[in-house]
Amino acid sequence: RQLGVALVGLGGYSTGQLAPALQKTKLCKLAGIVTGTPSKAAQWKQQYSIPDQNVYDYKTFDRIADNPAIDIIYIVLPVGLHAEYVERAAKAGKHVICEKPMANTAADCRRMITAMQKAGKKFSIGYRLHFEPHNREMMRLGQQQVYGPIKKMKADNGFRAGSKTWRQDKELAGGGPLMDMGIYCLQGIIYTKGQLPVSVTAKFAPNPDPNGLFNEVEAGVNWQMQFADGMVADCRTSYAENMSGLLRADATKGWMELEPAFGYGGLQGRTSQGPMNIENVPQQARQMDDFADCILNNKPTRVPGEMGLRDMQIIEAIYRAAATGQKVSTKDVVAVLDKV
Ligand code: NAD
Repeated sequence: RQLGVALVGLGGYSTGQLAPALQKTKLCKLAGIVTGTPSKAAQWKQQYSIPDQNVYDYKTFDRIADNPAIDIIYIVLPVGLHAEYVERAAKAGKHVICEKPMANTAADCRRMITAMQKAGKKFSIGYRLHFEPHNREMMRLGQQQVYGPIKKMKADNGFRAGSKTWRQDKELAGGGPLMDMGIYCLQGIIYTKGQLPVSVTAKFAPNPDPNGLFNEVEAGVNWQMQFADGMVADCRTSYAENMSGLLRADATKGWMELEPAFGYGGLQGRTSQGPMNIENVPQQARQMDDFADCILNNKPTRVPGEMGLRDMQIIEAIYRAAATGQKVSTKDVVAVLDKV
């Protein structure tokens, strides 16, 4: 039988990406929904043939514990709600996928990991690009030093936000574009280099809208990650500027880059030897099937809760570096890497 997935929060990402992807998965399928909006419940029930007993709201959520049709709970809520719902899903005794960024703080991430360990269930973060072939090619080229050791790296990811949503609300988002978009740069640099940074330096971008969108979270951040061998990665993120989504590495004998690197499709890669010519695939379907495979065959996931914690620890170091103007050590972050 295919494992049953319940999506919690039927916003843009669930509607536009995850539900369609769950029509393409082989090892799991869309079995249930959790929503606070009755009209959405009615529409999804009909569109995806979801039986009444698999439809929950945020009050009845905990009753999922008694529903054998739901194996995996997928948390797709604003970031500030991730910790509460992962802990409740753990209490319900289900396997869990939690969207990125994992939570508002590293302390929340630790609580979530402990809750999932107590439950004895598998836990992963929605880092879809670990299942995307262009990004896996960057991991291979970088980690195996196909063009020699990497000497310099660069990444950017951002967009111009139109109006205020939960993404500009500190309590619901935890932070600004660094948490939402910059996290892809941080991830890309680490999985291409195959190492963790030893320190970070950072600077907030100027606020272009001093009375509006960015009262609670930063408008943008420029930051650097320093590595043990002296290599520096230069990164940028913003909610005030559209960026292409770049991931580039310059090595001693050549270079490789993706641009755009981080989207749902249309990714393109090239190296100093020419175009990568790699096919785009349904990333989220691969990500969710991999998690189902980990459950069915008791294998560890490549993108565990500990990786979400690691990234929050680095993000907190970047915020501290930007606030103080000082270089901040990242030597104590959880040592978890996706090795090719
Ligand atoms: P969204 O705003 O489109 O949807 C959020 C949903 O949460 C809505 O359905 C809303 O009704 C619901 N919600 C429940 N309680 C809420 C509350 N108190 N305040 C506000 N909304 C509430 O957001 P989204 O883009 O779907 O993002 C959801 C999660 O998915 C976030 O963690 C985000 O970072 C993540 N995400 C990941 C990717 C990816 O590529 N992996 C892409 C987009 C979003």
